[in-house]
Amino acid sequence: MPLVVTDAIILHAADYLESSRLLRLATREFGVLSVVARGARSSRKRFGPAVGLFAIGQAQLDMRPGRDMHTLTGFDVANAQAALATDLTRFSAASALAESAMRVVHDESAPAVYAVLLDAFGALGSAGGDTVIPTALGAFWRLVREVGFAPVLDDCAECHEPLPPDLDVTFSHSAGGVLCPRCARRASGGRRLPASARAAITGWLQETQPTLSRSEGRAHQRLLREFLGQHLTDGRPLRAFADWEAGTFEPVEG
Ligand SMILES: [Zn+2]
Repeated sequence: MPLVVTDAIILHAADYLESSRLLRLATREFGVLSVVARGARSSRKRFGPAVGLFAIGQAQLDMRPGRDMHTLTGFDVANAQAALATDLTRFSAASALAESAMRVVHDESAPAVYAVLLDAFGALGSAGGDTVIPTALGAFWRLVREVGFAPVLDDCAECHEPLPPDLDVTFSHSAGGVLCPRCARRASGGRRLPASARAAITGWLQETQPTLSRSEGRAHQRLLREFLGQHLTDGRPLRAFADWEAGTFEPVEG
């Protein structure tokens, strides 16, 4: 394939050899890609000083069919996302989201996924204080919906009985959604999901922004972690998510 230009977000960056960078990009046309930016640490001309983690812009790529690693020949930064890099609360949420995106999105065209990530990183860049966690949670649920595992929330995931919105229910990760009381009694495991928490997840999937207390935010993070664990079957831990959830994020190189 010749040189291509695509909208992209930098999800991960690491130094490589003396002068290069290895990046993982979310792209509008090609899914998540691994690229090498040769000379990125010495050539400010081609890559600019703002090509850092979570930067949004246009990537110029030399893509070779059948390769796992492509070459980034340039990156025009539209938004350097400086506000994400300077605030640990935002940075840890963005890191957790980027980590999951790299695990659930592969190198296939996924413009709807890209749109979710573009919105999400932009929103995290301007989120403040108590809105960071709900903003990120909403982005996660929309991401999982776009990759095809939206949770069942309105009906019982087993018997399909409609469930009134004010009913506290059980969320079953193995069933992929909520269960009516009868099915919940027969199922093993599952986590109690109060009506307000179910309404919050429904709201996120409909692009609204529920307000959460700190303890509600933690309960949602735990539910989401378990949900992701059910779907990510490669056994690798979600380290950035764990740090985000624990609130003990230490910035790493990148
Ligand atoms: Zn049922």
